[in-house]
Amino acid sequence: MKKILILGGTTEARQLAGKLADRADCSVTLSMAGRTESPVAQGVPVRTGGFGGADGLAAYLRATRTDLLIDATHPYAARISANAARAARETGMPILALRRPGWKAVDGDRWVLVDNVADAVRALGIAPRRVFLALGRQEVAAFEAAPQHHYLIRSVDPVEPKLTLPNAEYLLARGPFREADEDALLRDHHIDAVVSKNSGGEATYGKIAAARALGIEVVVVSRPALPDVPSAETVEALAAMVDHFVRPVDERGV
Ligand code: NAP
Repeated sequence: MKKILILGGTTEARQLAGKLADRADCSVTLSMAGRTESPVAQGVPVRTGGFGGADGLAAYLRATRTDLLIDATHPYAARISANAARAARETGMPILALRRPGWKAVDGDRWVLVDNVADAVRALGIAPRRVFLALGRQEVAAFEAAPQHHYLIRSVDPVEPKLTLPNAEYLLARGPFREADEDALLRDHHIDAVVSKNSGGEATYGKIAAARALGIEVVVVSRPALPDVPSAETVEALAAMVDHFVRPVDERGV
């Protein structure tokens, strides 16, 4: 029985856990940061909260006699990915990562690429605009530096405390978001700029497609650098890598 720890917080992590949960030769634990107040049920045992940096994670891996570490965190969760790579190196533990590919701009997209959220604030310019912030609640505070804009702020959990912005509307919603609904949202709120991460995947692409159709500018915050570890782009491909790990070639009769 191989013990697997999945670092999660994404739809793919949940899907992977579900896929591996049926295997009799693996015991899977899913680790969540504990940011979301009512996370979706996962179908495997869940542990919650930080480990205390790379050293804490390494200690956890040793104490639990984990055999394989899987980093299936969000592409913008750079710290935990770096910690995972370091802890794997320190403990000599195999590590695999699920790396969802980013979106690519296509004809009609009006993307402004920026390196970080502070640059996204600056990219909105001085003149007042109506901005849809499709960012995590941790990141939106940076927009207090540009109070001239009107903001529509969507998050899974409430933004608390509310921002010191004179014109901000808050919307609580959890994806997936369909393009038709995103189109209606952008129109209803007369949005003329969207600020988004390049999350990749289908679940949050609707706003990008809707903005393209409406000719709305999207300020795209670039992805952070992530450690170079063996990785797959889809749940299926990663599950196949896990299969190779759990059942070496001779056992599969290949
Ligand atoms: P981060 O900046 O990379 O990580 C900050 C700290 O949170 C880590 O150092 C670690 O604490 C803890 N942590 C993060 N993911 C964890 C996990 N799966 N299990 C246990 N501890 C974890 O991460 P973040 O950007 O705040 O994201 C937090 C979580 O939300 C991640 O699980 C991520 O997959 C998910 N998420 C993030 C985004 C995003 O845009 N950043 C979007 C959707 C979902 P210690 O150092 O104490 O171990």
